[in-house]
Amino acid sequence: MIKKIFKALLNLILFPFRFILKFMISLLKRLKFSIAFKISASYFLIYIVIIMIVAVTTSVGYLVYEFEKFETETISKDVDEIIQEFPNFNYIGRSVKSVEIYDSNLDPVYPSNNQERYSDNIIVIIEELIYNKEYIYSTSFYKDNSEYYLNVTYNAESIIRDAARISLLVMVSGAFGLLIFIPIVSRTGYRMIGPIKNMTEITKTITVNNINTRLDIKGTQDELKELSQTFNEMMDRIEEGYKTQQQFVSDASHELRTPIAVIKGYVNMLDRWGKNDRAVLEESITAIKNETENMQDLIEKLLFIARSDKSSLIYTKEDFKISAILNEIEKETKMIDSKHKLYFQFYDDANIYADKNRVKQAIRILIDNAIKFTPFDGYIMVSGFIQDDFYVIKVEDTGIGIEKKDLEKIFDRLYRAEQSRSKEIGGHGLGLSIAKIIVLGHKGKIKVKSTVGKGSEFSIMLPYINT
Ligand code: ADP
Repeated sequence: MIKKIFKALLNLILFPFRFILKFMISLLKRLKFSIAFKISASYFLIYIVIIMIVAVTTSVGYLVYEFEKFETETISKDVDEIIQEFPNFNYIGRSVKSVEIYDSNLDPVYPSNNQERYSDNIIVIIEELIYNKEYIYSTSFYKDNSEYYLNVTYNAESIIRDAARISLLVMVSGAFGLLIFIPIVSRTGYRMIGPIKNMTEITKTITVNNINTRLDIKGTQDELKELSQTFNEMMDRIEEGYKTQQQFVSDASHELRTPIAVIKGYVNMLDRWGKNDRAVLEESITAIKNETENMQDLIEKLLFIARSDKSSLIYTKEDFKISAILNEIEKETKMIDSKHKLYFQFYDDANIYADKNRVKQAIRILIDNAIKFTPFDGYIMVSGFIQDDFYVIKVEDTGIGIEKKDLEKIFDRLYRAEQSRSKEIGGHGLGLSIAKIIVLGHKGKIKVKSTVGKGSEFSIMLPYINT
């Protein structure tokens, strides 16, 4: 019960303090101090501290110097006289306030009614100096084979007053210096922070419509310039990515426009004549079927790429022997292509950890291309072997080949080399982009070598676990 009352009372007493503390903290949080202000404030504080230190050290230095001088010039003489005349002495120096002599037991000898105690402790001496403006000198001496202790107290008012004056002088000059210091520091602070404000303003205005806006990186080399440079480089990458995306959307729309236009044409034809004309009906249905299949294929490929961009592409990886899919591919290819001379040669086998269907899809893309771009009776050779840390699947053909200028672009989305853009060959220029996405998704590599008119050689390299 008492505990509870005590707690309640304590809470009641502490309430105003807590309230003020909370209020101060929330106020400080709400106040928005600019960095320039914070820099100026810290410099201001450092300046004040330095001035204080200078004031204190100069006055302390003055005190030490004056007391040393006083000791050699006055005190030593006074003390000599006192010791000589002891025990019956009349000598009292000019600024001496009092003389106290104690015996070896520290009992007062002179004056006999002395109430004071012998002091030789530096803290007591400083205390006396500060509070009573008195300087106590302490020493011991021998007289008639007995040891005595002596305290001579001096009036130190004038020395302390002078020291205080010196302190004041330093502080006043410091205050004058502040009048020059504040504007310089605040101007420097604002000049240093100015570029940040500028950067904030420019950054606020950047949208997709002016994505080519960049920060001004003129001026001296410093962290802010580095920041602006880094920001500009980041914007370059974003702009490039944005442009590629835009190009991709526009190319994809273009690709979709053709089949839609074809379908529309056939639907119109059907509408006009096809209802009663069986030949027109059949031709239209076949064409529409082909075009919708074509469109479906394109949309599926686009969706695959979009999923990969969003990083929502999921690979269901498992541990399996690569020969399993290579044999399947061999069988399927021989079934669908009888126009080329096909060779399959798998030298090694290995266990790989991968998405079976996706890896098969990637290899199929290379083989489909070899079939597409190799004239009838040409050779297509698919081989599999281990090379260093990779299992290599190589697809070689004796087809039309790829020009040097196209070689680096064929993995780009919707890119098709000039000579392969015929309607008969078909394709949307997405196959190799998809194969590349799959291979990179398995930490593998995809490579190409080609000579126009002679043929091409594509290799997929996948890391393997064991043989
Ligand atoms: P596509 O659907 O057009 O085949 P790809 O991305 O698979 O798209 O291929 C891109 C381009 O690369 C093709 O249009 C073609 O110009 C070229 N290419 C790919 N494979 C071969 C090959 N084996 N021989 C010649 N050119 C090829």
